[in-house]
Amino acid sequence: MHNVDIDLVEMSLDVIKFAIARISDTDPKLGFPKTAEELKALVGETVTPAGIGGEKAFALFRDVLVKASISIDHPRHLAFVPASPTRAAVMFDLVTSATSVHGAFWLEGAGCIFAENQAMEWLVSLTGMPEGSFGVFTSGGTEANLSAMVTAREYWRSQDDSRANQRGIVIASNGAHSSIKAMAKVIDADVLLVETEDRFEGGLLAETIANMTPDDRERIFAVIATGGTTNAGIIDDLAGIAAVCKTEDLWFHVDAAYGGGALAARSVRHLFNGIEKADTVTIDPHKWLFSPYDCGAVIYRDPNLAKKAHGQEGSYLDIFSDEGARGFNPSDYQIQLTRRVRGLPLWFSLAMHGTDRYETAIERGIELARIAGKLISETDYTELVREPSLSCVLFRRLGWSPEDYRAWTYENHKSGFALVAPTKTRVGGETVSRFCFINPDTTEKDIADILATMA
Ligand SMILES: *Cc1c(COP(=O)(O)O)cnc(C)c1O
Repeated sequence: MHNVDIDLVEMSLDVIKFAIARISDTDPKLGFPKTAEELKALVGETVTPAGIGGEKAFALFRDVLVKASISIDHPRHLAFVPASPTRAAVMFDLVTSATSVHGAFWLEGAGCIFAENQAMEWLVSLTGMPEGSFGVFTSGGTEANLSAMVTAREYWRSQDDSRANQRGIVIASNGAHSSIKAMAKVIDADVLLVETEDRFEGGLLAETIANMTPDDRERIFAVIATGGTTNAGIIDDLAGIAAVCKTEDLWFHVDAAYGGGALAARSVRHLFNGIEKADTVTIDPHKWLFSPYDCGAVIYRDPNLAKKAHGQEGSYLDIFSDEGARGFNPSDYQIQLTRRVRGLPLWFSLAMHGTDRYETAIERGIELARIAGKLISETDYTELVREPSLSCVLFRRLGWSPEDYRAWTYENHKSGFALVAPTKTRVGGETVSRFCFINPDTTEKDIADILATMA
């Protein structure tokens, strides 16, 4: 099965040709899902004792399966958080797989982990966190948040033996990402969600803590602020929250999974002031740093605390801490053991293009949001819900019901024209429309054409 034979070589040429064509495709098909029943009817049973052969499996993939999957990098895909991996990064993702490197331990992956770490050094430098701060690439923001929360909770418990069996509390705002609540469930912690209309401010945090019972106050192990909410691009009052965390001696986590890329954009960098005071920061390179899925990152002010929380021990793992194998073991700093060197595609693309071009591409997303804001204000049938923030734009079509937004989304998606999904406002829960710009190839005309379909 693993032997190289002539069929495999020919098959590979088809597959590689497809991959190269897709990587260079600037106008991919948008794609639209089908039901599992429809797909079953089209492809039948593909996993069989004898196998259906590579040619047939690939044809089904190319002609059916891929078309029922959305191309996240389509220039008019502006829903959720789109992606737009650089061609260099996608190409290098293929190389990363082909290289077969185990990315958990220095002993196994030294050279590749070294490269990942150079990319990580750049990420850390964007945050302005002090010397010694460092991190690892994770499967995404959810895992990064979990790894940070586990570290914070373990640190809190290490401060006082009586906390060993105590349930912790993490404070976040109602603008925090859903993964915060989901990961708090995983570690069996309580979440205190502070109601905010916009930014989560330091003053409100101080007030919230002051109103807690002494017992509850004692159970707080972390405060989480968001560096660019996923829905509206709102950056919390990071400096104010950092100051309260310092006074109250609380762990400060900044979830910048979506917004973190904008740390590289001079025009908005000041909005993140205070992030350098964080104990942990989450950034998703697979969102606004043009990495292919999946690639998140978690950064620690004190990586040793992460190691205490995450380092795994076991007889067959002993050799990895031997003198001869000493080095940076990514498995010590997040919840995953065996891992691909998922930071390598980012590293290659950064090394090839230089960080300046990243800044230009990120600034373009911010500019597209401003352009969209202007176009939205200029029609007599749309208006902004709030000023664009980072690359997110919330806007309403005057007179539309939630059902109108839904029908419009499906119509544009089904025709293969665009994917723009509705969302709800934090206050009032009004259904509105939303753009999120990541892809620098999106044009002003794309935006105008989409708005025209709302007329
Ligand atoms: C996307 C996002 C997450 C979750 O990241 P995944 O990579 O999808 O796991 C967490 N927090 C914020 C603010 C996000 O935007």
